[in-house]
Amino acid sequence: MKIHEYQAKALLRGFGVPVPRGEPAQTPDEAVNVARSLGGSVWVVKAQIHAGGRGKGGGVKVAKSLDEVKTLAQQMLGMTLVTHQTGSKGRVVKKLLIEEGAAIAKEFYLGIVLDRARQKPCVMVSTEGGMDIEEVAAKSPHSIYKHWIDPVTGMTEKDAAAIAQKLNLPIEKILVDLYRAFWESDASLLEINPLILEKNGAVKALDAKIEFDGNALFRHPDIVALRDLNEEAPEEIEAAAHDLSYIVLDGDIGCLVNGAGLAMATMDAIKLYGGEPANFLDVGGGASTERVTAAFKIMMKRAGLKGILVNIFGGIVRCDVVAEGIITAARQVHLNVPLVVRMQGANENEGRAMLRDSGLPITLAEDMGDAARKIVALKSAS
Ligand code: GDP
Ligand code: MN
Repeated sequence: MKIHEYQAKALLRGFGVPVPRGEPAQTPDEAVNVARSLGGSVWVVKAQIHAGGRGKGGGVKVAKSLDEVKTLAQQMLGMTLVTHQTGSKGRVVKKLLIEEGAAIAKEFYLGIVLDRARQKPCVMVSTEGGMDIEEVAAKSPHSIYKHWIDPVTGMTEKDAAAIAQKLNLPIEKILVDLYRAFWESDASLLEINPLILEKNGAVKALDAKIEFDGNALFRHPDIVALRDLNEEAPEEIEAAAHDLSYIVLDGDIGCLVNGAGLAMATMDAIKLYGGEPANFLDVGGGASTERVTAAFKIMMKRAGLKGILVNIFGGIVRCDVVAEGIITAARQVHLNVPLVVRMQGANENEGRAMLRDSGLPITLAEDMGDAARKIVALKSAS
């Protein structure tokens, strides 16, 4: 799960990490009020979207007067911000962060990610921070220093000293606090780009990006409360409400499968026969008729869908229960694309008979390869 920069900074402040003073705003007047109460003579107006690269896309601007804060807020609110992380459709800006300006002497990069291969958090730092870190990573990866942390000890004084020395910056305490924020909030990524040295010698987190491990959210209701549904795909939100794992993809063949591993294999099979999956959808091991119906409806909403492949292995879930869900859903939504079903396992004969007798245009398949071949052929024929 992702959160906005202003929320990430509030969280970090709670762990003792120095961040600029600032508040979110949703209207130009609110933006001016925030700037006025912050005081000073330089402010930064920052678009709040769940994507980086805002600076280059026009989503981070410096204002030197309250009037300018207002003008920039008017321009930015409602604009579609396109950055290298948003895709070509971009994101509509609905919120801003108004901050006190910082006098930057130098920008650094600092990131903490979970390194799954080493099973340890990895701290990455670079003296080449700022807006071109992707280019730095591509062209001179060795200029990024990596330091792995033992999850049992956490960040020790020795770790912090070694990392701080690479940047030649007195950030031992900030490192310990950032690591605690990462660890205690079950983050999968925490990125400060830039971490800045101010002209007065102070070090601050000027930007903050945090992503949390979805599997650990149950123990962080305070973090779940930060979720901004405006920033998430509507089908994925609806799917989550029905306890379904659903991820939108680029292709045109919808797939409904029970079990994540089987869902991955099904997508591979579709690709093997020349098709492209439109989604990943795992209805889970104990899928009820209601859940299968909901899953079917969510998948059918997809514009440009050219076919559906249902692949069920009846272990815990019974094939007749799934068949009932498919029939209910297909009758409720106007099924206007080819549907291929492969069903094997518990009550497969009952399930297949129900599908065959339903009068719906359903093609039954013998096995997974047969199912993938059939849906790709039917899709291109239709
Ligand atoms: P991103 O492009 O989405 O990563 O947004 P950032 O928050 O990193 O901002 C982009 C850039 O704007 C930073 O790298 C800074 O160079 C600049 N910037 C952000 N805040 C300030 C500020 O308070 N003062 C000045 N002078 N520049 C700032
Ligand atoms: Mn940044």
